[in-house]
Formats: sequence, C-alpha cells, structure tokens
Amino acid sequence: MFFLDIHTHSIGKQNSILSRRPEETIPSQSFSLGIHPWYLKTDWADLINIIEQNIHHPHLQAIGECGFDLLKGPEENLQLEVFAAQAKIAKKHGLPVILHCVKGLHLLQAFLKRNPESPAIIWHGYNQKPEVAKNLLARPVYFSFGEALMKEGSNAQKFIRECPLDRIFFETDTSDVEISSIYKQASVILGLSIEELVFVVRDNWNHISKRKLNEG
Ligand SMILES: [Zn+2]
Repeated sequence: MFFLDIHTHSIGKQNSILSRRPEETIPSQSFSLGIHPWYLKTDWADLINIIEQNIHHPHLQAIGECGFDLLKGPEENLQLEVFAAQAKIAKKHGLPVILHCVKGLHLLQAFLKRNPESPAIIWHGYNQKPEVAKNLLARPVYFSFGEALMKEGSNAQKFIRECPLDRIFFETDTSDVEISSIYKQASVILGLSIEELVFVVRDNWNHISKRKLNEG
C-alpha cells in the first residue's frame, strides 16, 4: 500500500520524502530541500541559490523543512526573512513547504498576513493545541501527524479528531515508528479504514503539488 511519509530524515525509506539541507548531497529518491532554522547562518543567500539550482530536479517534491525555532535558532527577523524567501520559491514552482515551527506561531502568522498568496504549508510533526491549528484553517495550511499520535492524550491525538480530512498528512521524521503504524493509529482514532486514509493523503498531495510522486 502507498503509505506516503511526507517527512523523514532516514535515507531509503519507501514512499517517503527525505528531508535534505542544501549543504548535503542530492539523494537518488524523493526529497525536500530547505534551510532549517537550526542551521541558519549568514551564508543563507548561497544556500537559497543551491535550492534554486535544484528546483527542477525530478525527485524534488517540496521545500523544507524550513521555518521557525525560537528555542534553537537565530533572531526572529532573520528566520522570517529566510522562510519567506523559501516560500516564495515554493509558490513560484507549485511546491508545498514543509514547516518546522517551535514557538514560532507568531512568525507564521506574520508571514501569512504579509502573503495573501501563500504556497501550501505543511506543519510537520503537529502536536500543538487544536485551537492553534483551527485558527490557521482559513489559509492553505496542512498538518502532518507523526510519533505524537501514538501518545495517549497528546495534542496530536486531540487535534486529528477535529482536523478536516483534506488537511491531513503523516510522517515518521526521526522516529523509529513505522509509517504504516502511524496510519493504523490514525485509522483507529478516526474510525476510518487504512485504505481510506491512504486515499485521502494521496488526494491531499495531488491537490497541493504539481509534481508526480515516485512510488517505491
Ligand atoms: Zn524533521
């Protein structure tokens, strides 16, 4: 079955989008490319150039992960500027953005306010209060659920029950949990079959990306 894993850091997983940084080598599988706030330094314009040079690569599926991290990142304005630069590339080429967001909700809101034409943004590893996500649903913001879905009483578990199905994705990120287990967990929580969820995610992907996914 096609268990799309929207975001992973493990090389060679089936049906997954491997998250890479511009400093790293381009992999021979589906990947996303972005400047993560943890690694954001003054050389970012060079890294943006690398992203642009690879923008037509047939395996490039998304921009990211990129975004905001106020616990482990440089000053806010720089983070916002570099996120906006990457989102602009994504919008121009019809690619979604994989968002890393730690204590940076106000920066995401500032970006959305300044950019009425935002690309699709997938908030990866979503595990915030449902209210936070609900306030973003008027904009093209999607939510990817990962390991936190396995934890009883987590915000991820609370929100997925309320999240519109046309905004849902799944991921493994750095976790050892199998992507199929995350789909299975979601299917139990939502009372939907795994086949239905696979279909929903595939449909969501086709809605936000112009690029064909490589299966396998
Ligand atoms: Zn990640």
